[in-house]
Amino acid sequence: MLIKGGTVVGAAGERRADVLVAGERIEEVRPDIRAGGERVIDAGGLLVLPGVVDPHTHFLLDAGGVRTADDFASASRSAAAGGVTTYLDFAPQRPGERFLETLASRRRLIDGQTVIDYGVHLNVNRLYPGWEDDLRALVSAGVTSAKIYTTYRDDIFYMDDWTWYRLMEGAARAGLLVQVHAENDAILDGKRRDLEAAGQTSLAFHGASRPAIAETEAVGRALTFSRFSGSPVYLVHLSAPGSVDLVREARAQGVRALAETCPHFLALDDSVYAGPDAARFLMTPPLRDRSLVDGLWQRLGDGSIHTVGSDHCGFALSARLGVDDFRKVSPGVPGVETSLLVLYSLGVAGGRIDLATLVRVLCANPARVFGLWGRKGDLAPGFDADLVLFDPGPRRTLTAGELHSRAGFSPYEGMELVGKVKTTIARGEIVYDQAQVCAQPGRGRYLPCAPFDPRLGLS
Ligand SMILES: [Zn+2]
Repeated sequence: MLIKGGTVVGAAGERRADVLVAGERIEEVRPDIRAGGERVIDAGGLLVLPGVVDPHTHFLLDAGGVRTADDFASASRSAAAGGVTTYLDFAPQRPGERFLETLASRRRLIDGQTVIDYGVHLNVNRLYPGWEDDLRALVSAGVTSAKIYTTYRDDIFYMDDWTWYRLMEGAARAGLLVQVHAENDAILDGKRRDLEAAGQTSLAFHGASRPAIAETEAVGRALTFSRFSGSPVYLVHLSAPGSVDLVREARAQGVRALAETCPHFLALDDSVYAGPDAARFLMTPPLRDRSLVDGLWQRLGDGSIHTVGSDHCGFALSARLGVDDFRKVSPGVPGVETSLLVLYSLGVAGGRIDLATLVRVLCANPARVFGLWGRKGDLAPGFDADLVLFDPGPRRTLTAGELHSRAGFSPYEGMELVGKVKTTIARGEIVYDQAQVCAQPGRGRYLPCAPFDPRLGLS
């Protein structure tokens, strides 16, 4: 396959070049490659981007009996339609379950269903004495990161500080990267009780129930644990600039810390909670006020935020109808299909970031952080032929009806978009073209991840 005449944007910047694909890999990227009988795809007027590597998805999540409407088939089709060619999903450990069993049972749900490649993070909640060796076995099996939650004390996700610190000590020895959902549980609990006492439990108070201080405090704790344990740490879905600044300061002192944010924290603000559609914006942490949103863009542009993950969680909107109580809603919004569209529209077309930054935070850095570099995240010889042909021209209004998630809604419904994904190519195969997903479930493969390598630069 020869992709001719496009503007190629890779980790090294943008240039006019052709891309020659041989089988599943990129063979050559340079101007004026002569066709030698390959299928030629005209990319004139298009951007040729690396496939998006979404480091944070919950394609099939069971939150205490409430399941996402999406499964791996529907959500991976949605991903392909959004220019995503790789995702990293979470395998939730059941209490008492050994880590390799957790991985195997998650893979049984994904293999045979997914249309694109995937990696797995462990979602760990129990670390029994003697299980530290199991972390090494997990790394050998290609799972090189594990996520903990500092909140949700009432369900299986919560991990106490002592277990968390022990995990980080074990992780430092095993070569595991620890991811943290950072929200101080006691602050959230106290805030919730205050709101209950005031009768303020409607969806309008979702944002107020989870203040930024809860996030920033827990980020500080994660950085301290990282400093003392020697384990690298990855802060998922940061919503507040103050949290990002703590990460940046710790990095300047040698702490191996990484910051992720999500498109919704860049695109939306907390004014929506007062409106009639609050149910479309229920995620944790919640949306913040406009000045914090502006602060996040600035930190995305200056390299303080390393990655953008969708945190896709396809709960059906219908399950929220008539539930006007933030305590009773399973949080999460779909987003894997819209990350590139939202970042391009508001970021690149909006003049807030350049194309190189777009590719860095959506493609290259997620691949570097999670041990997929060399295969994923760039357009260079030897990398998998994962590409997006992106038309930067069209302007339109986003409707949920064009999206492929079974959640049936989007937090970006009604947003003015610039550009569209024309074609997605994964390992040399067209998986999405002209509004059609054309890949079979099961074609995607499990990707064993290498341990996080701090020597790989992130800019
Ligand atoms: Zn998440």
